[in-house]
Amino acid sequence: MPEGKVFLVGAGPGDPALLTLKAAKLLQEADVVVVDALVSPAILRMIAPGVRVVDAGKRASRHTLPQETTNQILVDEAKRGNRVVRLKGGDPFVFGRGGEEAEELSRNGVDFEVVPGISSAIAGPAYAGIPVTHRSLATSVSLITGHESDESSGIDWERLAASSGTLVFLMGLGRLSSICEQLVSRGMNSHMPVAVIAKATTAEQRTVTGTLATIAARVQEAELPAPALVVVGRVVALRESIEWFEKRPLFGRRIVVTRAREQASDLRRLLEDAGAIVLEFPMVEIAAPSDSWASLDSVIDRIGEYDRLVFTSTNGVAAFFERLFEKGRDARALSRLEIAAVGETTAGALRNLGLAADLVPEKFQSAALLPLLPEDQSGVSTAVVRAAAGRDELIDELRRRGGRVDLAVAYETKATDEGLDELRALLSAGSIDCVTFTSSSTVTNLFERLGADEKATLLDRAVVASIGPSTSETLRGLDVPIGIEAPLPSIAALVDAVIAHYRRDTPKG
Ligand code: SAH
Repeated sequence: MPEGKVFLVGAGPGDPALLTLKAAKLLQEADVVVVDALVSPAILRMIAPGVRVVDAGKRASRHTLPQETTNQILVDEAKRGNRVVRLKGGDPFVFGRGGEEAEELSRNGVDFEVVPGISSAIAGPAYAGIPVTHRSLATSVSLITGHESDESSGIDWERLAASSGTLVFLMGLGRLSSICEQLVSRGMNSHMPVAVIAKATTAEQRTVTGTLATIAARVQEAELPAPALVVVGRVVALRESIEWFEKRPLFGRRIVVTRAREQASDLRRLLEDAGAIVLEFPMVEIAAPSDSWASLDSVIDRIGEYDRLVFTSTNGVAAFFERLFEKGRDARALSRLEIAAVGETTAGALRNLGLAADLVPEKFQSAALLPLLPEDQSGVSTAVVRAAAGRDELIDELRRRGGRVDLAVAYETKATDEGLDELRALLSAGSIDCVTFTSSSTVTNLFERLGADEKATLLDRAVVASIGPSTSETLRGLDVPIGIEAPLPSIAALVDAVIAHYRRDTPKG
C-alpha cells in the first residue's frame, strides 16, 4: 500500500478565483477532503466528484468536531494510504490551527505538505481598498487574534496601542468594543480610523468604517455578519480614494445568462467585470442540424460555383470550417469568393482563421447586409451559411434582385433544460436580480417551461433584460414586461444597459 499524505491547504478568503493553482489541482486528486466551516460553497463545488468530504467545520458556538478528532481523522486517513487534503479558510498557518495539525502529523510520522493560501487578513483589507502597509502611513502590520478564549495568551495591548503600524484583528467581531477600549485606554488616539470588513472577497462583502470611538456602535447598527476582520490604522483612510470592489456598478447583483454555453463567455466576462454574480442557465444549445448536413455539404462541394459566401454568426463560421476540414479541404477553397460577415463578432471569427471579410454590416442582422449589396444581383450566386431557423429576408431580397441564393444549414439551436431545477429554486427564493435574454429562442424556451406561478415570481422579483427589438417582441408576445433593453443588439450594449439600469436604481437593500 502506498504511503498516505496530508496536504494542509489554504482555500483563500472566499472568492474561489483566489484559490491557488496547487490547491485546485489537489482538490481534483484527493481521496478525502477534510473541510472547515469557512470554506465557501463555490470552492466545495470544485472538489472532484467521487472524492469523500469530511466536514470538520467549526464556528465559535457550534463545534462540529473537536480539534483532537480532526487531528485523529487526518492521521488515520493518511495511515490508510489516502491522499488527504485538509482544506482551511485563508492561509492554514494564520490562526487556522494549521500549526497544531502539522505538529500532530509530524508526531505521528505522517508525511505532509503545507500549501499556503491567500489570508483574509491581507485579502480582506485589499478588497476593501485598504493597503495594509503604505510607505508614508504604515511600515508594519500585525495580525492579532480577537478571540476571547485566547486572551490569556497575553496580547500586549500597551505595545499595540503605541504601534504606528496597521493592526488587523481576526475573530474580533464579537469583542469589537472591548478591542477599541483596550487601545484607547492604553493611549491610542480615539480618532484613529477603523474598518470592519465582513464576508470579504465575496458578493456579500460589506465594510463599515469609523474611528476607535465610533466603530462599535456603527457596526452594531449595520448588523454586520461574521466572519469579519477589524482593521485599525491610518491606512484605513485610504479606502475613501481607492475603494473598488464594493463600488463596481453590478456588485452583488445576481444575473442569469440564458445564452448557449458556447456563446456565453463574452456576456459573462463583461457582467463579472462590473461586479455581478453570473449564473449560467443556458436555455439553448448549439447542435448539428437535425435534418442533415446535406445543404451545407452541397455548398461546400460546389464552392467553386459561388460568387459570394455569407456568414451570419460565429456558430456558422465554426460549423462551416469544421465540415470543410472534415472533407479534407481548407480556407483556400474560399480564395475566389467575396465574403460577407454579419456583425463584428462574426468577422472576428473569420479573422482568427486568416480571412478578412469583404463586407461587414454594423448591425448583427443579416438584412443589414442588403444596403451594402448591389441592386442588380442577376448572374450572382450567393450561399448563406446560418442556423436551421433564421430570418429569410436577406435570401428573399437577393432573389428578388435577380440573384441565385442557396441556404447552407450549418447548425441549429436546440432547447435545453440543463440546470432548470436549480434556476427554479433560485427564482422562487427570490434570489435573482436580473434575467438576460439574447435571442427569442432563449425567451420561449424558458417561459415554455415555467409554470404560471414561477413566471409570476420571476417577474415580481427579477428585472428582464432584452438584447434588442426581436427578442423584445417575443417577450411582449408572452406578456413579459421588459425592464432593460439594449439600444443596439449587441452584448456590449446589453451590459451597458444593465449597468445603467442599476446605477439609476436605489442601492441594494
Ligand atoms: N486562516 C484564516 C483565518 C482563520 S480565523 C485566514 O488566513 O484567513 C477565522 C477568522 O478569519 C474569522 O473570525 C475572521 O476574522 C477572518 N476571516 C476569514 N475569512 C474571512 C472573510 N471572508 N471575511 C472577513 N473575515 C474573514
